[in-house]
Amino acid sequence: SESHLWTEVDDYFSGLLIPADPVLEAALAASDSAGLPAINVTPGQGKLLHLLARIHGARTILEIGTLGGYSAIWLARALPPGGRLITLEAEQLHAEVARVNVARAGLSDVVDIRVGRALDTLPALTTEGPFDLIFVDADKPSNPDYLAWAVELSRPGSVLVFDNVVRAGNVVHADSADPSVRGTRRFTELLAADPRLTATAIQTVGSKGYDGFTLALVDP
Ligand code: SAM
Repeated sequence: SESHLWTEVDDYFSGLLIPADPVLEAALAASDSAGLPAINVTPGQGKLLHLLARIHGARTILEIGTLGGYSAIWLARALPPGGRLITLEAEQLHAEVARVNVARAGLSDVVDIRVGRALDTLPALTTEGPFDLIFVDADKPSNPDYLAWAVELSRPGSVLVFDNVVRAGNVVHADSADPSVRGTRRFTELLAADPRLTATAIQTVGSKGYDGFTLALVDP
């Protein structure tokens, strides 16, 4: 099947380009043992986030949607000394698993996990920004609100990444009743209409199937 081929190709490139990483593998194993859903980014996507942060020279990163801290570890490892990552998570259990995973990665002093619904914890970040890179990967119906917050908490030159924008292709359905499709479409319309932002959306395939992400720059 196509998805089998996509996984094989992901494994081929990861096998060569992404060395075995006991800390990241332990993070996934601990998340699995604790019963967390395996909805983390793939190794290839995690490394893309890591590379984006390094290419950009990010010193401050905000993530919405921690899960077990897998993507947070990839991102935090891209920070220079003194850099900081704040990650927001609604579920207490997810945050606890992430805390252990981040500690195992030696990143407890770099990664700050805030528990609560992001729309409740975001307002307190106005005194802690601006953030050089913002990765949004939480409840998709809230993406229109997260876009407004991302702009509020950014600076000219900041990079924004929103994950899972394809919705198995259903993003094209204007009459969809699916709250995630509706949120993704509204988010994309707001992005398109915002003169401060320059953006693109890229479809992807891989070991986690068919998906995609949106990349935006807050114009300098
Ligand atoms: N970024 C993670 C990674 O790649 O390792 C995966 C994040 S997972 C796709 C989405 C996470 O967002 C879940 O842990 C979920 O509990 C959390 N979440 C859902 N709604 C939220 C909300 N309103 N505020 C904060 N986090 C939320």
